Amino acid sequence: MFNISVNQIDDPLRLLDNPLTCPGLFYATPAIDGVISRIRIPGGILTSHQVRVIADYANIFGGDGSINVTNRANLQVRGIRGSEAALITLRSVELAGIPEVDHIRNIMASPTAGIDSSELIDTRYLVRELDEYICSHKELGGLSPKFSVAFDGGGKVSVCQQPNEITFSAVKENTFIYFHLLIGGEATNILLKPEECLFVVAALAQLYLNEIDITEKRKPRLKKLFQEKGLSKTLEQAQKYLPFPLNVSNHTYHINTNTNYHLGAHPQRQKGYSYIGIVLPLGKLNINQLYNLANLVDTYGSGSLRLTPWQNLIIPDIKSEFIPQVQEHIENLGLHWSANHIYSGLVACTGNKGCASSATDTKTDALALAEYLQQHISLDIPIKIHFTGCSKSCAYHGKSDITLLGAQKIENNTTIEGYQVFVGSYEQPFGREIYSYINQAELPEVILRLLQVYKLREDANESFGEWVDRYLVSELQHWFYVGGIA
Ligand code: SF4
Repeated sequence: MFNISVNQIDDPLRLLDNPLTCPGLFYATPAIDGVISRIRIPGGILTSHQVRVIADYANIFGGDGSINVTNRANLQVRGIRGSEAALITLRSVELAGIPEVDHIRNIMASPTAGIDSSELIDTRYLVRELDEYICSHKELGGLSPKFSVAFDGGGKVSVCQQPNEITFSAVKENTFIYFHLLIGGEATNILLKPEECLFVVAALAQLYLNEIDITEKRKPRLKKLFQEKGLSKTLEQAQKYLPFPLNVSNHTYHINTNTNYHLGAHPQRQKGYSYIGIVLPLGKLNINQLYNLANLVDTYGSGSLRLTPWQNLIIPDIKSEFIPQVQEHIENLGLHWSANHIYSGLVACTGNKGCASSATDTKTDALALAEYLQQHISLDIPIKIHFTGCSKSCAYHGKSDITLLGAQKIENNTTIEGYQVFVGSYEQPFGREIYSYINQAELPEVILRLLQVYKLREDANESFGEWVDRYLVSELQHWFYVGGIA
């Protein structure tokens, strides 16, 4: 632990007023519970030393003694005070870049890069190169805070479904590995050599900057700007900044979608070693857990851990024979590792404690639901339950089994918080609405009934989404209220 207090530090770095809408490390973003600080962690990879420094930072400068993993594998500390003084310490462990580009979104990569036995390419060096490029080009400060890049190595834990403006998705052509370029999640059918990816990010960023007014506070999304321009025109103009041709293939490339393998213990590509994915309740860790995790990765791993875009974390490089001991340590920390644990699929946005747009206190309601379900049911398959305070869905952009959208009702001049309940995978974005309003107090019982009826299915491998999609809304409502059998 470093020994530090606000008064002891020279303060060469400055906390700035936030001209933007997203939190950063250098921007004071106010929220209902104080200032939010967000630390970019490129690729989500941290050393145990960095983990301890962050724990100290949250301990000394943070609000409630907790820290959150975000859905971009950043770390977020709420209720920050005196954070100007802490910036220098975070920079000393390479966790604070430069203010001009700090608002740009974290670079995303598969959290199993380099350890996944089925990946096509280890993307970690590409993340490092891009981060160095961004941090050495102040002019990129004109980019929108939504500007985001992901590298997917083609393995079992894909980030292709995450909302990124530019995604490089590894594919194999004959014996060569290329990256398929996706813009705004849409396939371009352009294959790039690994060494060409950084040039393409720079070219698309330059094209974007040429087209916008960089002094505007609200900048357009790169995806939207390029959609309006059209893909072929975008590529034609980007070509001017590239030393190699962008060739659009007639071939349609498969986009990797697998995200099921990051929780629990899994063998690595390195023989005799395993990684273990740890479930965090709504991405939250307390400071004590952080210090203990740092010790755990030093004792059993290689001194590093990885944050995931699903608000969980992974400890890599554990000798496989030590997995039971590590699982025991994780449980002793009050955390979980099973993919079937209720927390493994539970996601909630900030809610009305930190966001004025939220109709409900999503995080508190999600934790209350999890506690109730833990007492009454054990899951035999992972279930994704998504609480969102409004339809923007900041916390999760993929498909959920159950989506709970915050809603309010006025009764006798009193506002009663509740949720609109959606299930299944079709009729996007949330699935089918089965209840337009269930009040917060009744919600746990309704969700329990949903899961109890689902557990009676004949095919144990049928996912909740597949199962629920087979029935009419009226059938589902009937079963869930009377507790019948499907
Ligand atoms: S989803 Fe809506 S309510 Fe939730 S954090 Fe985002 S904007 Fe706020």
